[in-house]
Amino acid sequence: MKAEIIAVGTEILLGQIVNTNAQYMAKELADLGVDVYFQGVVGDNMVRVKQALQIASERSDLVVCCGGLGPTEDDLTKDAIAEFTEAKLVIDEDAQNKILELFKGGNDSLIASNKRQANTIEGSHLLKNAVGLAVGFVHKYQDTYYAVLPGPPREMKVMFKRELKPLLDNILGTRKKLYSKYLKFGNIGESAVEDTLKELIAQQSNVSIAPYAGIGEITIRLTVKAHSLEDAEKDFEGTAKQIRHLLGDYLYSEENESLEQALSQHQINDFGVYEINTNAYLSNRILSTDAPYENLKVSTTRVEKKTINEALAANQFAEFIEQNNLKNAIGVFHCQISQASLTPSGRPQKRFFIALCVDGNVSLIERTFIGDMQAVQIRAAKTALFLFLKAFKEIS
Ligand code: ATP
Ligand code: MG
Repeated sequence: MKAEIIAVGTEILLGQIVNTNAQYMAKELADLGVDVYFQGVVGDNMVRVKQALQIASERSDLVVCCGGLGPTEDDLTKDAIAEFTEAKLVIDEDAQNKILELFKGGNDSLIASNKRQANTIEGSHLLKNAVGLAVGFVHKYQDTYYAVLPGPPREMKVMFKRELKPLLDNILGTRKKLYSKYLKFGNIGESAVEDTLKELIAQQSNVSIAPYAGIGEITIRLTVKAHSLEDAEKDFEGTAKQIRHLLGDYLYSEENESLEQALSQHQINDFGVYEINTNAYLSNRILSTDAPYENLKVSTTRVEKKTINEALAANQFAEFIEQNNLKNAIGVFHCQISQASLTPSGRPQKRFFIALCVDGNVSLIERTFIGDMQAVQIRAAKTALFLFLKAFKEIS
């Protein structure tokens, strides 16, 4: 169902009040699974309110208006809807009695103007007002529902929750809900992911594909509207398969989890982390999960970056493994900025060695990362986690 919210009130157009009603209703409608495609504001003017209704009627199945239900001359929302839908306004007896009771002894014109708040459209569904006098309604005209609620936020909210929501629930019946699936990638940059998926994203149909870049991790969220989780999973599978085909080498999880959380799903024995010049980022990430690493050995130090070269990194890592009797280990060494290579925009690339020991097999690679100090440390740690996890899964 496509919906549109129209707030009626010159005060909003003049910036004297903030349109918080629209925010509230938009959120509530979204939770109900209703797609709000447009929101508008129109002043207290009959011609323009009807214009707004005309435009809304052409593109929405539900038009929710709020404001302009009070007793004064400029409160004309109900009249506008009645005229636009060629319907007749009638008095709701209960609402009228409430008003007559309240204004007992008042003068005729006061009573007459206030009685307008008991107006509703003939044959429409009444929305009672538990905290105020103006009743609202939902009126169907030419396949579009027109709902009208009062402007004061407290009245609007109570009416929305108690009256409109159950009615919408009924109208919507058994309906589709939003389901999401996550694919998580490491060891690849955001632009490479987007570039690879460009065509798939351009062709997306019922399954929407949204990439989100984190530092060192990329998330792709697939979203679909379906009647059940099983239906959603069927819908996801085709798209997920295509993404796995294109980016499978970088995929580490099909849950919405970080690399360290994915790692923590595995029982890794005789495991250690060795870091130089990284502010212990990697070990902190690993220890932040409630993983079953018994006796995780951690060593973090800081040395002059220029003293680290490949041989030193390899030796130190081998020593760390030997001294602690490890079978599995990850090492991250931050060394001096790479002199040789600048990025095309002239930014220096920061240089790291990443060492892995997976079931006794040791390897060491050099990698450069671009970004500020914190970002490169995260990227290096995430890359190390990714490479370790991949190798570990291959042997287990
Ligand atoms: P009343 O009986 O008070 O006249 P009404 O239904 O005619 O109610 P309005 O006259 O449009 O509503 O607005 C009454 C008050 O409600 C405004 O002065 C403002 O404080 C608040 N209000 C109206 N519309 C909104 C809105 N869209 N967002 C937030 N507050 C609103
Ligand atoms: Mg008013």
